[in-house]
Amino acid sequence: MESVIPVPTVSLIPVMGSAAVFPVRRIYCVGRNYADHAREMGMDPEREPPFFFGKPQDVVVPGGGPVHYPPATANLHHEVELVVALARGGRDIPVSRALDCVFGYAVGIDLTRRDLQAKAKDKGQPWDTAKGFDESAPISAITPANLLGHPGQGAIWLAVNGVEKQRGDLADMIWSVPEVLAHISGFVALAPGDLIYTGTPAGVGPLVRGDQVRCGIQGLGELAITLV
Ligand code: MN
Repeated sequence: MESVIPVPTVSLIPVMGSAAVFPVRRIYCVGRNYADHAREMGMDPEREPPFFFGKPQDVVVPGGGPVHYPPATANLHHEVELVVALARGGRDIPVSRALDCVFGYAVGIDLTRRDLQAKAKDKGQPWDTAKGFDESAPISAITPANLLGHPGQGAIWLAVNGVEKQRGDLADMIWSVPEVLAHISGFVALAPGDLIYTGTPAGVGPLVRGDQVRCGIQGLGELAITLV
């Protein structure tokens, strides 16, 4: 059937060690999944459990590189995160079976307009303009789980212009990867192509044009972006 407009494109993420690509269906993100980051945002991780929000599928920046500093903000923040890529999905996935859904893992940055997020929190408004803007989700190539296994621990870090800003360990996530998948699948049906950004450790901070950002996760390699 003929389309009345050009058919929108699906984002494609490179796969480590392969010429094949991973097509993106939806992007879910976990908020406040590391206690030290919850505290730096003024929240008590003992009383406020992690939660979910989304980004559109076309805001990924596969492989990093130049990222345009977005309009309508004066406080763009970096958040380095472990990203889970799904090969299978379902509803009400039990924790014990959740890892069977995982295709692989990547390093991602959840770019955030912190000023718009603060305003949205004040007014009880949604976070879409704070989180879901163009080029707001840089992501490295995906390392398949059949090469790496499932990382339950390991360093996660980010540096700006060679100065380290964030460092944590995947073992410090409040909700582990299987728990995240189980929780989300209680709200929506997960499916092949879904990406889940699993939250960031402490040390988030502002970026300006010209900044060179490097980040990595033990075993998954690195991701680099430059703000232009
Ligand atoms: Mn985040």
